[in-house]
Amino acid sequence: MYISLPVLLLLVIALLSAVIALLLLTRKRRHRRKGLFKQLSLLLKMLDQGAHVARKHGQERSPHWGSVAKEHLRREPACVVCGYKGRKRQVHHIKPFHLHPDLELEPHNLITLCSARGKEHHLLLGHLGAWDSYNEHIRADAKHFYRKTAAQIKADLHWKKKMLARP
Ligand SMILES: [Zn+2]
Ligand SMILES: [Zn+2]
Repeated sequence: MYISLPVLLLLVIALLSAVIALLLLTRKRRHRRKGLFKQLSLLLKMLDQGAHVARKHGQERSPHWGSVAKEHLRREPACVVCGYKGRKRQVHHIKPFHLHPDLELEPHNLITLCSARGKEHHLLLGHLGAWDSYNEHIRADAKHFYRKTAAQIKADLHWKKKMLARP
């Protein structure tokens, strides 16, 4: 079979550009996958800081936690501090799971708080600003800090005092 030189050149160029395009595509996809994985693990961490702290203490969440948390949200659907009902509401353990694993599924030990931007009621009031700390008086404090923003909470003397003495 005879192939003329221009045709052969064209074929070689086409093959080369196909290989380069393929290489670029796979590299881009690998980057995207890495970014997606990072985002996903960050999201999971945000969603369940309690499980993260518990794991640090060598404890795992009960397989029933998901349904108990859902049931709690049916009873108490909004952040008790601000009434927020969006996707950033979270079910918090008043007595922390890593110290009281027996109270993990106890309804009275659960309270709904939010991690909505500019409010951060879960972190600031449920954990006094540090995920491995906690606030056993969160029910009373939810009333004291009712509808306050993160900035207002951080400026509040009562909160500052509590934060300095946090467990
Ligand atoms: Zn919590
Ligand atoms: Zn809130």
